[in-house]
Amino acid sequence: MAFTIAIDGPAAAGKGTIGRAVAAHFGFAHLDTGLLYRATGRRMLQGLDAVEAAQSLRAADLEADDLRSSEVGQAASRVAAIPEVRAALVDFQRAFARRSGGAVLDGRDIGTVICPDAEVKLYVTAGDDERARRRHKELCEKGQDVTLEEVLDDLRTRDARDSARATAPLKPAKDALLLDTSAMTIESAVQAAIDLVAQGLAVADQAQNGAGGGQA
Ligand code: C5P
Repeated sequence: MAFTIAIDGPAAAGKGTIGRAVAAHFGFAHLDTGLLYRATGRRMLQGLDAVEAAQSLRAADLEADDLRSSEVGQAASRVAAIPEVRAALVDFQRAFARRSGGAVLDGRDIGTVICPDAEVKLYVTAGDDERARRRHKELCEKGQDVTLEEVLDDLRTRDARDSARATAPLKPAKDALLLDTSAMTIESAVQAAIDLVAQGLAVADQAQNGAGGGQA
């Protein structure tokens, strides 16, 4: 059975952690769609045309060590505003979303553009300062030399660009469930997401059984 969970939200809101944990809990596959834009942005920094880079992306491009750097993140956000780049990445994401066995995709436009029919849509957010604090801690733990102010500035610049672009801007789908994790630990945010998805699965099950019952 295909079952799609769309998780959107601004940078460093915890989408990736929540997406991975939800996927592991339900035995679903997980795709961090930000990696597609980061890999495209990274290739652009290497001198490739952004659209060609997106059209010729390979699995190995998603494994580069420096994909998580702030420089690549900014490049990702710039290439993500180009409609032809986004168009080149749509089919792969949609095929992933409808694979059998269930899929979790996290990004910016999953519930609005890539999977408007997703069975569960979450919009995960947190205040700017809290998101910056979490990302700063994560980067410091990885040994990166960066200040909290730099991280905050990086997030705000990307969020502003991602929200203002004409194609597939960052915004919650009308039917998305809002999860503000500002005052939550990561464990309670993950649990809240799992509870919301479990409710969505129960509704889908009921619809399927109800339909089956009707046919019998
Ligand atoms: O999620 P992450 O922060 O890794 O994404 C990097 C950038 O990729 C974002 O700032 C955004 O510009 C872009 N992106 C996007 N649509 C997605 C996922 C990411 O535009 N579905």
